[in-house]
Amino acid sequence: PTRETLLEVNNIEVIYNHVILVLKGVSLSVPKGAITALLGGNGAGKSTTLKAISGLLKSERGDVTKGSILYRGQNIAEGNPADLVRMGVIQVMEGRHCFEHLTVEENLLTGAYTRASRADVARDLEMVYTYFPRLRERRKSQAGYTSGGEQQMTAIGRALMSRPETILLDEPSMGLAPQLVEQIFEIVREVNDKEGVTFLLAEQNTNVALRYAHTGYILESGRVVMEGTAQDLRENPDVKEFYLGMS
Ligand code: ATP
Repeated sequence: PTRETLLEVNNIEVIYNHVILVLKGVSLSVPKGAITALLGGNGAGKSTTLKAISGLLKSERGDVTKGSILYRGQNIAEGNPADLVRMGVIQVMEGRHCFEHLTVEENLLTGAYTRASRADVARDLEMVYTYFPRLRERRKSQAGYTSGGEQQMTAIGRALMSRPETILLDEPSMGLAPQLVEQIFEIVREVNDKEGVTFLLAEQNTNVALRYAHTGYILESGRVVMEGTAQDLRENPDVKEFYLGMS
């Protein structure tokens, strides 16, 4: 079935510090309710693409100098992160980024700052704990003392507390053991399936990402070099050779 396009990135260029051209015309479209993977090696421009969408680029002296980014048809290329959260788009940054001195539960509650109703917040906390039973067990622990996997779960859980329509998830597998990576992706799939949350996820781990995503884009040096359904990409000989380590 063809799905409605929620997010459309049209031919964007991104420059850092007014000099370094990092994205050289990136286009992609994210269907509503799907999991879309943004793949590619170190420095290909995955994080930069996510930050251009979420508005986090500005705080790193990055600018979208060309192209447009449309969310539900509205241009958001000049948006700031708070506006984007209000529109339903939130980024989970690479490296997990918890508030180390707060407990796991306090971290989750910081994600609910846009919400007015305490009853809704309590219900959403319950929803997060249903997806991440481990976080319920650790809810009173100081986040800085929890494991890498638990911190990644906390970061995703905090994003869910804003009741997003779309989550931009940066490198969820980073630094995690394979079994834990699988567990995180299982939860992403479940949240996508049951809550209808749309995901755009940046991943270097092509193998795992293409098993969970519906469609994918491969970036190299700031350009999209390949795109397709996850199945097509998995079966593509170049992808197999260069990204899946088989030939
Ligand atoms: P990684 O997985 O390593 O984060 P990536 O595909 O997400 O890779 P980006 O982080 O988007 O890649 O980086 C793309 C390019 O932009 C790299 O060459 C990087 O050095 C450069 N870059 C990233 N952030 C900045 C910044 N704040 N200032 C200047 N250059 C930057």
